[in-house]
Amino acid sequence: MRPARALIDLGALRHNYRLARRLGGGRALAVVKADAYGHGAAACARALEGEADGFAVAAIEEALELREAGITAPVLLLEGFFEAAELELIDRHRLWTVVQAPWQLEAIERFRPSAPLRAWVKLDSGMHRLGLSPDGFADAWKRLRAMPHVDGLVAMTHFARADELECGRTAEQAAVFERVVAALGERPVVSLANSAAILGWPALAEPPLPPAGEGRGEGRGEGPQPHEGRTWARPGLMLYGATPFPAPHAQADQLRPVMTIESRLIAIRDLPAGEPVGYGARFVTPMPMRIGVVAMGYADGYPQFAPDGAPVSIDGRPGRLAGRVSMDMLTVDLSGHPEATVGTPVQLWGDHLPATELARHCGTSAYELLCGVKRVARSWRDS
Ligand SMILES: *Cc1c(COP(=O)(O)O)cnc(C)c1O
Repeated sequence: MRPARALIDLGALRHNYRLARRLGGGRALAVVKADAYGHGAAACARALEGEADGFAVAAIEEALELREAGITAPVLLLEGFFEAAELELIDRHRLWTVVQAPWQLEAIERFRPSAPLRAWVKLDSGMHRLGLSPDGFADAWKRLRAMPHVDGLVAMTHFARADELECGRTAEQAAVFERVVAALGERPVVSLANSAAILGWPALAEPPLPPAGEGRGEGRGEGPQPHEGRTWARPGLMLYGATPFPAPHAQADQLRPVMTIESRLIAIRDLPAGEPVGYGARFVTPMPMRIGVVAMGYADGYPQFAPDGAPVSIDGRPGRLAGRVSMDMLTVDLSGHPEATVGTPVQLWGDHLPATELARHCGTSAYELLCGVKRVARSWRDS
């Protein structure tokens, strides 16, 4: 059998979830969209069930997959529904929905669920992708509040640049959110933070202050406020053990990688100097060199245009790519690995080589690497 494998460590997933929940300062929805960033949504959700406060997905198809897998915990649709007809399924499967646009609110207004619908109302605080505008938010909130068939409102927003720790934009977006929420005349449950914000912007774990005149003052200055139940974090990437940051980071460095992509050497060549390797002869041996062929290619999700020198881990020691990646194979420089033979294991990313580091060499992100894994046999283990 072809030796390309994705090994998924569910113990590491739980460790990372606990870290997210603790740093997030309240409850945390485990984001398992896109098949849990390539890790297997059903397996990951089962591993977290009993521990996760709930799950979040991109669309109803993904939510139904979780329900079919027996997951009974809350599942939030991060973009809400794409057409009003989905409300029947949302009701039947007890899903939670985001409301990000006025047409969704109107559809909910007309709908008669069998039990109150849970709605998260999304504010566009400056990313300008989804969400109600700051001008329209309070009106939408009050309309939903007044609907007897809607319950459990949460005010949410999403950051565009939380992974840039020196950038002022996250604080600006948070200030827009706080201002809009403060005008609601109540102190709602809120949800702001994705992985980068959970790890990099700890002050966001504090919910916005109550509106003036209501509870303000009492309890302030008396030490930490109880946040339990008032804040929902939405960790995605960090659950899978990848850091959103380019540099070392005290919190992110506590994450444990969940996915390890590995394969084996299936052939070895001894080449003289000046010989081309692989398609396009991108790599030419600068000296006599041993080249290893690994059963892993872009059809498995490894980046086709990973450059020469991109890191690999050969039997646990650092190695480097040499030559353009093919569909089913890639080639590595074995100069520093005299002991390597056919069958030697090669890790492409995982516990020896962070996905974020490989991504940096390839001009992509850990998100894209993880979500792009395909064809390789996946196996899940609990540690
Ligand atoms: C995907 C997503 C998340 C998770 O983001 P990460 O950066 O992976 O932590 C959180 N919130 C929303 C709205 C999302 O779409």
